[in-house]
Amino acid sequence: MDVFKFAYFPFVNAAAKYVEALDFKLDELFTERAFEPIRERGKSRVLEAIGDGITRNINPDEGRAKKELLSYPVARILVSCVNDSYLIKRYALSEAKSAFEKVKELRDDEIKELAADFNIDSSMEEKLFVIHFSDYIRYANVIHEPKWKLVNRNMDRGKVSLSREDFSRIMEEAIRKRIESGLPAAVPPEICESLRQYLEEIRNALTVRKSEFNIEEFKEIMPDCFPPCMVHALSNGQAGVNLAHSMRFALVSFLLNIGMNLEGIIELFKVSPDFDEERTRYQVNHIHGATGTAYTSPSCATMTTYGNCFGKEALCDRISHPLSYYRKKAWILKKGMRGETKKQQI
Ligand code: SF4
Repeated sequence: MDVFKFAYFPFVNAAAKYVEALDFKLDELFTERAFEPIRERGKSRVLEAIGDGITRNINPDEGRAKKELLSYPVARILVSCVNDSYLIKRYALSEAKSAFEKVKELRDDEIKELAADFNIDSSMEEKLFVIHFSDYIRYANVIHEPKWKLVNRNMDRGKVSLSREDFSRIMEEAIRKRIESGLPAAVPPEICESLRQYLEEIRNALTVRKSEFNIEEFKEIMPDCFPPCMVHALSNGQAGVNLAHSMRFALVSFLLNIGMNLEGIIELFKVSPDFDEERTRYQVNHIHGATGTAYTSPSCATMTTYGNCFGKEALCDRISHPLSYYRKKAWILKKGMRGETKKQQI
Protein backbone atom coordinates (compact mmCIF):
# COMPACT_ATOMS: atom_id res chain seq x y z
CA MET A 1 0.00 0.00 0.00
CA ASP A 2 1.08 3.58 -0.60
CA VAL A 3 0.06 6.92 0.90
CA PHE A 4 -3.03 7.10 -1.34
CA LYS A 5 -4.30 3.82 0.08
CA PHE A 6 -3.29 4.83 3.61
CA ALA A 7 -5.50 7.88 3.20
CA TYR A 8 -8.44 5.52 2.84
CA PHE A 9 -7.23 2.96 5.36
CA PRO A 10 -5.34 4.96 8.01
CA PHE A 11 -6.00 2.30 10.65
CA VAL A 12 -3.71 -0.36 9.09
CA ASN A 13 -0.39 -1.06 10.78
CA ALA A 14 1.66 0.05 7.78
CA ALA A 15 -0.07 3.46 7.81
CA ALA A 16 0.88 3.98 11.47
CA LYS A 17 4.50 3.09 10.59
CA TYR A 18 4.42 5.50 7.64
CA VAL A 19 3.23 8.33 9.93
CA GLU A 20 5.89 7.47 12.54
CA ALA A 21 8.59 7.74 9.88
CA LEU A 22 7.50 11.24 8.79
CA ASP A 23 9.74 14.11 9.67
CA PHE A 24 7.91 15.59 12.68
CA LYS A 25 6.90 14.67 16.21
CA LEU A 26 3.30 13.59 16.61
CA ASP A 27 2.73 16.22 19.33
CA GLU A 28 3.40 18.96 16.77
CA LEU A 29 0.32 17.82 14.89
CA PHE A 30 -1.82 19.09 17.74
CA THR A 31 0.00 22.31 18.50
CA GLU A 32 1.94 23.71 15.52
CA ARG A 33 0.26 26.35 13.39
CA ALA A 34 1.43 24.68 10.17
CA PHE A 35 -0.78 21.69 10.92
CA GLU A 36 -3.97 23.66 11.42
CA PRO A 37 -5.58 22.46 8.12
CA ILE A 38 -4.96 18.89 9.28
CA ARG A 39 -6.55 19.59 12.66
CA GLU A 40 -9.51 21.17 10.85
CA ARG A 41 -9.91 18.05 8.71
CA GLY A 42 -9.62 15.88 11.84
CA LYS A 43 -12.40 17.90 13.42
CA SER A 44 -14.61 17.70 10.33
CA ARG A 45 -14.07 13.94 10.27
CA VAL A 46 -15.56 13.70 13.76
CA LEU A 47 -18.35 16.16 12.92
CA GLU A 48 -19.21 14.15 9.82
CA ALA A 49 -19.36 11.02 11.96
CA ILE A 50 -21.79 12.78 14.31
CA GLY A 51 -23.77 13.89 11.26
CA ASP A 52 -24.50 11.77 8.23
CA GLY A 53 -21.19 9.94 7.82
CA ILE A 54 -17.56 10.51 6.86
CA THR A 55 -16.99 11.41 3.24
CA ARG A 56 -13.65 11.13 1.47
CA ASN A 57 -12.52 13.22 -1.41
CA ILE A 58 -8.90 12.33 -2.03
CA ASN A 59 -7.49 13.88 -5.15
CA PRO A 60 -4.59 12.24 -6.96
CA ASP A 61 -2.22 14.56 -5.13
CA GLU A 62 0.23 13.25 -2.56
CA GLY A 63 -0.09 16.31 -0.34
CA ARG A 64 -3.85 15.93 0.01
CA ALA A 65 -3.56 12.20 0.59
CA LYS A 66 -1.04 12.88 3.37
CA LYS A 67 -3.35 15.46 4.92
CA GLU A 68 -6.24 13.00 4.88
CA LEU A 69 -4.04 10.33 6.47
CA LEU A 70 -2.77 12.64 9.21
CA SER A 71 -6.26 13.85 10.02
CA TYR A 72 -7.04 10.35 11.30
CA PRO A 73 -4.80 10.45 14.41
CA VAL A 74 -6.13 13.95 15.05
CA ALA A 75 -9.72 12.68 14.87
CA ARG A 76 -8.88 9.80 17.24
CA ILE A 77 -7.34 12.19 19.74
CA LEU A 78 -10.35 14.51 19.53
CA VAL A 79 -12.73 11.59 20.12
CA SER A 80 -10.57 10.42 23.03
CA CYS A 81 -10.57 13.87 24.64
CA VAL A 82 -14.39 14.02 24.45
CA ASN A 83 -14.49 10.46 25.82
CA ASP A 84 -18.18 9.78 25.23
CA SER A 85 -19.23 6.18 24.57
CA TYR A 86 -21.94 7.19 22.08
CA LEU A 87 -19.41 9.25 20.11
CA ILE A 88 -16.82 6.46 20.18
CA LYS A 89 -19.28 3.95 18.74
CA ARG A 90 -20.61 6.38 16.18
CA TYR A 91 -17.16 7.47 15.08
CA ALA A 92 -15.84 3.90 14.72
CA LEU A 93 -18.91 2.87 12.74
CA SER A 94 -18.69 5.88 10.48
CA GLU A 95 -14.98 5.32 9.72
CA ALA A 96 -15.70 1.66 8.97
CA LYS A 97 -18.64 2.45 6.70
CA SER A 98 -16.60 4.98 4.79
CA ALA A 99 -13.76 2.43 4.39
CA PHE A 100 -16.23 -0.25 3.26
CA GLU A 101 -17.09 1.79 0.15
CA LYS A 102 -13.40 1.81 -0.80
CA VAL A 103 -12.76 -1.85 0.10
CA LYS A 104 -15.36 -2.86 -2.49
CA GLU A 105 -13.30 -1.10 -5.18
CA LEU A 106 -9.98 -2.79 -4.33
CA ARG A 107 -8.39 -5.48 -6.47
CA ASP A 108 -8.63 -9.03 -5.09
CA ASP A 109 -4.97 -9.08 -4.00
CA GLU A 110 -5.41 -5.71 -2.27
CA ILE A 111 -8.42 -6.94 -0.29
CA LYS A 112 -6.40 -9.98 0.76
CA GLU A 113 -3.54 -7.73 1.84
CA LEU A 114 -5.94 -5.61 3.89
CA ALA A 115 -7.45 -8.72 5.47
CA ALA A 116 -3.98 -9.99 6.40
CA ASP A 117 -3.48 -6.79 8.41
CA PHE A 118 -6.37 -8.01 10.56
CA ASN A 119 -4.90 -11.53 10.77
CA ILE A 120 -7.54 -12.87 8.41
CA ASP A 121 -5.98 -15.44 6.14
CA SER A 122 -7.91 -15.51 2.86
CA SER A 123 -7.61 -17.25 -0.48
CA MET A 124 -9.54 -17.24 -3.75
CA GLU A 125 -11.59 -20.06 -5.18
CA GLU A 126 -13.67 -19.53 -8.29
CA LYS A 127 -13.90 -15.77 -7.76
CA LEU A 128 -14.97 -16.23 -4.15
CA PHE A 129 -12.99 -15.28 -1.07
CA VAL A 130 -12.40 -18.18 1.28
CA ILE A 131 -11.69 -17.69 5.00
CA HIS A 132 -11.57 -19.88 8.10
CA PHE A 133 -14.91 -20.18 9.86
CA SER A 134 -13.46 -18.87 13.15
CA ASP A 135 -12.53 -15.57 11.40
CA TYR A 136 -15.99 -15.50 9.90
CA ILE A 137 -17.71 -15.91 13.27
CA ARG A 138 -15.43 -13.36 14.91
CA TYR A 139 -16.84 -10.61 12.71
CA ALA A 140 -20.17 -11.90 11.37
CA ASN A 141 -21.65 -12.65 14.80
CA VAL A 142 -22.82 -9.06 15.21
CA ILE A 143 -24.55 -8.97 11.81
CA HIS A 144 -28.09 -10.16 12.36
CA GLU A 145 -29.54 -10.73 8.91
CA PRO A 146 -30.33 -14.45 8.47
CA LYS A 147 -27.84 -14.92 5.60
CA TRP A 148 -24.96 -14.16 8.02
CA LYS A 149 -25.74 -17.10 10.29
CA LEU A 150 -23.03 -19.72 9.82
CA VAL A 151 -25.63 -22.43 9.04
CA ASN A 152 -26.72 -20.41 6.00
CA ARG A 153 -23.19 -20.33 4.55
CA ASN A 154 -21.36 -22.73 2.30
CA MET A 155 -18.73 -24.34 4.49
CA ASP A 156 -16.17 -26.85 3.32
CA ARG A 157 -13.53 -28.31 5.66
CA GLY A 158 -13.81 -25.39 8.07
CA LYS A 159 -13.63 -22.75 5.31
CA VAL A 160 -16.40 -20.32 4.37
CA SER A 161 -16.77 -18.89 0.85
CA LEU A 162 -17.84 -15.30 0.46
CA SER A 163 -18.68 -12.96 -2.40
CA ARG A 164 -16.57 -9.80 -2.76
CA GLU A 165 -19.43 -7.71 -1.29
CA ASP A 166 -19.79 -10.00 1.74
CA PHE A 167 -16.05 -10.22 2.36
CA SER A 168 -15.93 -6.42 2.21
CA ARG A 169 -18.70 -6.35 4.81
CA ILE A 170 -16.62 -8.64 7.04
CA MET A 171 -13.74 -6.22 6.61
CA GLU A 172 -16.00 -3.32 7.58
CA GLU A 173 -16.78 -5.10 10.83
CA ALA A 174 -13.09 -5.86 11.45
CA ILE A 175 -12.26 -2.18 10.90
CA ARG A 176 -15.08 -1.00 13.18
CA LYS A 177 -13.92 -3.34 15.94
CA ARG A 178 -10.28 -2.28 15.65
CA ILE A 179 -11.10 1.43 15.77
CA GLU A 180 -13.62 1.10 18.60
CA SER A 181 -11.38 -1.10 20.73
CA GLY A 182 -8.55 1.47 20.47
CA LEU A 183 -10.72 4.27 21.90
CA PRO A 184 -10.47 6.24 24.05
CA ALA A 185 -6.69 6.55 23.75
CA ALA A 186 -4.82 7.90 26.76
CA VAL A 187 -4.22 11.56 25.89
CA PRO A 188 -2.17 13.92 28.07
CA PRO A 189 -4.45 16.71 29.41
CA GLU A 190 -2.26 19.41 27.85
CA ILE A 191 -2.95 17.99 24.37
CA CYS A 192 -6.71 18.08 24.99
CA GLU A 193 -6.28 21.61 26.27
CA SER A 194 -4.47 22.68 23.09
CA LEU A 195 -7.39 21.31 21.07
CA ARG A 196 -10.04 23.11 23.15
CA GLN A 197 -11.54 25.14 20.27
CA TYR A 198 -12.11 22.00 18.17
CA LEU A 199 -13.47 20.07 21.14
CA GLU A 200 -16.01 22.76 21.89
CA GLU A 201 -17.46 22.48 18.40
CA ILE A 202 -17.57 18.70 18.62
CA ARG A 203 -19.23 18.74 22.05
CA ASN A 204 -21.86 21.20 20.80
CA ALA A 205 -22.62 19.04 17.75
CA LEU A 206 -22.85 15.99 19.98
CA THR A 207 -25.27 17.73 22.34
CA VAL A 208 -27.47 18.75 19.41
CA ARG A 209 -27.34 15.23 18.04
CA LYS A 210 -28.32 13.68 21.33
CA SER A 211 -31.08 16.24 21.91
CA GLU A 212 -32.67 15.09 18.66
CA PHE A 213 -33.71 12.06 20.62
CA ASN A 214 -35.39 14.01 23.38
CA ILE A 215 -38.71 12.30 23.97
CA GLU A 216 -40.44 15.47 25.20
CA GLU A 217 -40.08 17.04 21.80
CA PHE A 218 -42.48 14.75 20.02
CA LYS A 219 -45.62 15.15 22.09
CA GLU A 220 -47.97 15.57 19.15
CA ILE A 221 -48.19 12.38 17.07
CA MET A 222 -48.09 12.98 13.32
CA PRO A 223 -48.57 9.70 11.40
CA ASP A 224 -47.97 11.54 8.09
CA CYS A 225 -44.38 12.06 9.20
CA PHE A 226 -43.56 8.42 9.95
CA PRO A 227 -40.52 7.12 8.02
CA PRO A 228 -41.14 4.40 5.40
CA CYS A 229 -39.64 1.63 7.59
CA MET A 230 -42.13 2.36 10.39
CA VAL A 231 -45.06 2.67 7.98
CA HIS A 232 -44.05 -0.70 6.54
CA ALA A 233 -43.85 -2.29 10.00
CA LEU A 234 -47.16 -0.76 11.10
CA SER A 235 -49.02 -1.83 7.99
CA ASN A 236 -47.55 -5.33 8.26
CA GLY A 237 -48.56 -5.47 11.91
CA GLN A 238 -52.06 -4.23 11.07
CA ALA A 239 -52.31 -6.84 8.32
CA GLY A 240 -51.55 -9.52 10.88
CA VAL A 241 -48.01 -10.26 9.64
CA ASN A 242 -45.74 -11.37 12.45
CA LEU A 243 -42.95 -8.82 12.94
CA ALA A 244 -39.36 -9.93 13.58
CA HIS A 245 -38.25 -9.28 17.16
CA SER A 246 -35.78 -6.57 16.09
CA MET A 247 -38.46 -4.76 14.04
CA ARG A 248 -40.96 -4.98 16.87
CA PHE A 249 -38.38 -3.43 19.21
CA ALA A 250 -37.61 -0.69 16.65
CA LEU A 251 -41.29 0.11 16.16
CA VAL A 252 -42.20 0.16 19.86
CA SER A 253 -39.20 2.28 20.84
CA PHE A 254 -39.90 4.66 17.92
CA LEU A 255 -43.55 5.08 18.95
CA LEU A 256 -42.58 5.61 22.57
CA ASN A 257 -39.88 8.11 21.59
CA ILE A 258 -42.36 10.23 19.62
CA GLY A 259 -44.66 10.30 22.63
CA MET A 260 -47.29 7.63 21.95
CA ASN A 261 -48.79 6.19 25.11
CA LEU A 262 -48.40 2.59 26.23
CA GLU A 263 -52.06 1.65 25.84
CA GLY A 264 -52.13 2.96 22.27
CA ILE A 265 -49.11 0.84 21.35
CA ILE A 266 -50.49 -2.30 22.97
CA GLU A 267 -53.72 -1.71 21.04
CA LEU A 268 -51.73 -1.63 17.77
CA PHE A 269 -50.30 -5.08 18.44
CA LYS A 270 -53.67 -6.65 19.22
CA VAL A 271 -54.14 -7.73 15.60
CA SER A 272 -50.79 -9.56 15.59
CA PRO A 273 -51.26 -13.34 15.10
CA ASP A 274 -49.26 -14.22 18.20
CA PHE A 275 -50.68 -11.41 20.36
CA ASP A 276 -50.35 -12.13 24.05
CA GLU A 277 -51.49 -9.11 26.04
CA GLU A 278 -49.47 -9.85 29.18
CA ARG A 279 -46.24 -10.46 27.26
CA THR A 280 -46.77 -7.44 24.99
CA ARG A 281 -47.49 -5.21 28.00
CA TYR A 282 -44.32 -6.45 29.70
CA GLN A 283 -42.20 -5.86 26.57
CA VAL A 284 -43.59 -2.38 25.90
CA ASN A 285 -43.15 -1.45 29.58
CA HIS A 286 -39.60 -2.76 29.47
CA ILE A 287 -38.70 -0.68 26.40
CA HIS A 288 -40.43 2.30 28.03
CA GLY A 289 -37.99 2.04 30.92
CA ALA A 290 -39.80 0.07 33.62
CA THR A 291 -36.44 -1.50 34.51
CA GLY A 292 -34.67 1.86 34.64
CA THR A 293 -33.44 2.10 31.02
CA ALA A 294 -35.60 3.92 28.48
CA TYR A 295 -34.52 2.79 25.03
CA THR A 296 -33.99 5.00 22.01
CA SER A 297 -35.13 3.52 18.73
CA PRO A 298 -32.31 2.13 16.52
CA SER A 299 -30.51 4.25 13.93
CA CYS A 300 -30.84 3.69 10.18
CA ALA A 301 -27.48 1.88 10.20
CA THR A 302 -28.79 -0.62 12.77
CA MET A 303 -32.11 -0.90 10.96
CA THR A 304 -30.21 -1.76 7.77
CA THR A 305 -27.97 -4.25 9.56
CA TYR A 306 -31.03 -6.09 10.86
CA GLY A 307 -32.75 -5.97 7.46
CA ASN A 308 -35.45 -3.59 8.76
CA CYS A 309 -34.89 -0.62 6.45
CA PHE A 310 -37.81 -0.82 4.00
CA GLY A 311 -38.98 1.64 1.37
CA LYS A 312 -36.12 4.12 1.65
CA GLU A 313 -37.04 7.40 -0.04
CA ALA A 314 -35.33 10.70 -0.93
CA LEU A 315 -35.58 12.20 2.58
CA CYS A 316 -33.83 9.10 3.96
CA ASP A 317 -30.61 10.20 2.24
CA ARG A 318 -30.53 13.31 4.41
CA ILE A 319 -30.93 11.63 7.78
CA SER A 320 -29.33 8.78 9.70
CA HIS A 321 -32.09 8.02 12.20
CA PRO A 322 -35.83 7.31 11.83
CA LEU A 323 -36.47 9.92 14.55
CA SER A 324 -34.59 12.50 12.46
CA TYR A 325 -36.78 11.56 9.51
CA TYR A 326 -39.87 12.18 11.65
CA ARG A 327 -38.59 15.50 12.93
CA LYS A 328 -37.49 16.71 9.49
CA LYS A 329 -40.75 15.69 7.79
CA ALA A 330 -42.74 17.42 10.54
CA TRP A 331 -40.69 20.55 9.98
CA ILE A 332 -41.25 20.39 6.20
CA LEU A 333 -45.01 19.85 6.61
CA LYS A 334 -45.35 22.65 9.16
CA LYS A 335 -43.37 25.00 6.95
CA GLY A 336 -45.65 24.10 4.02
CA MET A 337 -48.74 24.77 6.14
CA ARG A 338 -47.41 28.13 7.28
CA GLY A 339 -46.81 29.01 3.62
CA GLU A 340 -50.40 28.06 2.74
CA THR A 341 -51.85 30.17 5.60
CA LYS A 342 -49.79 33.16 4.48
CA LYS A 343 -51.06 32.77 0.90
CA GLN A 344 -54.66 32.66 2.16
CA GLN A 345 -54.09 35.84 4.17
CA ILE A 346 -52.79 37.74 1.14
S1 SF4 B 1 -33.25 5.03 5.80
FE1 SF4 B 1 -33.76 5.08 7.97
S2 SF4 B 1 -35.68 6.17 8.08
FE2 SF4 B 1 -35.42 5.63 5.95
S3 SF4 B 1 -36.51 3.70 5.75
FE3 SF4 B 1 -34.39 3.17 6.20
S4 SF4 B 1 -34.29 2.97 8.41
FE4 SF4 B 1 -36.19 4.03 7.94
